[in-house]
Amino acid sequence: MSDRTPFLAGNWKMYKNRDQAVNLAYALKDLVGDGEGRDAAVFPSFSALEAVRRILADSPIKVGAQTCHFETEGAFTGEVSAEMLKDAGLDLVLVGHSERREFFGETDEIVRKKLDAALRAGIAPILCLGETKDEREANRTEEVVRRQATAAFEGLDTETMKGITVAYEPVWAIGTGLTATPEQAQDVHAFLRGLIAEMFDADTAQAVRIQYGGSVKPGNIGGLMSKPDIDGALVGGASLEAGSFAAIVSFDRG
Ligand code: PEP
Repeated sequence: MSDRTPFLAGNWKMYKNRDQAVNLAYALKDLVGDGEGRDAAVFPSFSALEAVRRILADSPIKVGAQTCHFETEGAFTGEVSAEMLKDAGLDLVLVGHSERREFFGETDEIVRKKLDAALRAGIAPILCLGETKDEREANRTEEVVRRQATAAFEGLDTETMKGITVAYEPVWAIGTGLTATPEQAQDVHAFLRGLIAEMFDADTAQAVRIQYGGSVKPGNIGGLMSKPDIDGALVGGASLEAGSFAAIVSFDRG
């Protein structure tokens, strides 16, 4: 494990009505307490963001949105800009989640525009990338994550890059119960860190936190976090219950 502060984030997706989200936020606030030296964040749906933000305002748990639009404002019915998220007091935004890429047509180009929008608005992005099952089986994992990372990060300056969190989320492991082994995840994380060193420099690569996502549970987080290039997790299903997400935040090193 590295000396980067572990960063555990919960993506609530399109789950939890407002009451349920409020209850989950209160329970997490109690269980996570002062955070024990870990960074934590949750990503509720838009309708619960403000309620959850208020509850967690005096807690170390940060609150973010699951997506944003890349324009500042305009006639884009149904969309919310990064500036609007910032104005609503949010800390973070997920960019390029595989469900956005798969179901909402987000290409590498759109993902880059959203990343730029978050940076412009001063809201910290978590940039998600990862290969599908077919791509892994065709031994194309490195090619795919290289393409996604290059499209997202090319041309940024080093200080900006250091402020971005990367989430490596193999699509075949999301919501499937299939977790990458710690070794499989470590291999891709090391590849991504090498790529960031190639694109920027070694210092920047060492500063960037790379989360793993894909069926993370209390029972497998320790093994994942024992690897030198795994700096945290982006958690879907197991973040919907306070006890399991709090157990992930306070993981024991494997
Ligand atoms: C996710 O939504 O980013 C995710 C990794 O989901 P799950 O933990 O349910 O696989």
